[in-house]
Amino acid sequence: SAPLTATATAAAVELRNLARHYGEVRALDNFSLQIEPGEMVALLGPSGCGKTTALRSLAGLDDIDSGSILVDGRDVTGSPANQRDMAMVFQAYSLFPHMTVAENIAFALELRKVPKAERAERVERYLELVGLDAHGGRYAHQLSGGQQQRVALARALAVHPKVLLLDEPLSALDAKVRVQLREEIRRLQQEIGITALFVTHDQEEALAIADRVGVMSAGRIEQLGVPQEIYNRPINEFVANFIGVTNRLPATASAERADVLGLPVPLLPGSAQGDATVLVRPERVRIEPENEQTPAQRRATVMSVSFLGAHTQITAELGDGMRVLARVGANQAARFSPGDLVEVVLDDYPALAI
Ligand code: ATP
Repeated sequence: SAPLTATATAAAVELRNLARHYGEVRALDNFSLQIEPGEMVALLGPSGCGKTTALRSLAGLDDIDSGSILVDGRDVTGSPANQRDMAMVFQAYSLFPHMTVAENIAFALELRKVPKAERAERVERYLELVGLDAHGGRYAHQLSGGQQQRVALARALAVHPKVLLLDEPLSALDAKVRVQLREEIRRLQQEIGITALFVTHDQEEALAIADRVGVMSAGRIEQLGVPQEIYNRPINEFVANFIGVTNRLPATASAERADVLGLPVPLLPGSAQGDATVLVRPERVRIEPENEQTPAQRRATVMSVSFLGAHTQITAELGDGMRVLARVGANQAARFSPGDLVEVVLDDYPALAI
């Protein structure tokens, strides 16, 4: 691909104690986030948790009630959007339909006062970067959804913004294109070294694309961390549940371990003690044929076996009627059938007790 000339140096972003109310709704509630220069942070959370409001506040498109926004240490809280030097990619339909692809990008450059002599060269370079150099003369309706989003990305990057803002840019695309474009956005963001904020409600997408993920609920960040940390070390029930399915198993917890189904399970920091519920991911559960040594509390009956290609999902019911979901190797599908008597085994892996 074309060589990348340096864009504006990567910016540091700081959102401090942002608050925003819509009537009774707290869209942002003491929301704070720092993004390092060149870092991509994903905001992840259910619909209505305030992700878009956070992103739009940073862009200057939404007002905040209180708090401050700093870019490279400079307070931009009161600055209008067009003075913040940021560029945004929306979910869909953001290209001007009456302009060609090349004109869409050139127009954005004109708005940012890029000298005319430089515009054509940038249009060409950024279209090439997203693999659409042959499509400059087309109109939006002559492009697939994925291609339109590539153009929107090229247009956003071409203006050399300090910060790239992405608001569910992949949500309208089908699964395969979504994964391809996700990888491409990540590659370009890293190559250019631009600071970026990516909003999504898709767990896998957030974990795959970002340096750090902020899991949001009700206007604030519940947990912020690198993807592995968010996935493996959730700090509370909300985060654990939001990032993938979780089994809830009764336990007796001490400071560092819990007894779950008669097995010792190490506990994550912040876990409850005493009578508790331990959250165990399905991939930490194994299913074995039962034998004479299987204690009563781990004896279960297979209820369903679903072969899902890359892995197999087994639901088993314990003696007291409690169901456990196990995610096991794809080859395990042939080993078990509904009605089989089995033993439920938990991996020796840290879990959260609540
Ligand atoms: P989604 O994924 O559905 O877009 P979100 O996490 O991005 O959700 P926001 O769009 O930031 O959430 O909205 C946060 C809360 O603020 C929601 O309860 C929403 O209904 C409310 N809200 C947002 N914008 C407005 C508005 N202009 N007027 C009234 N309420 C609003």
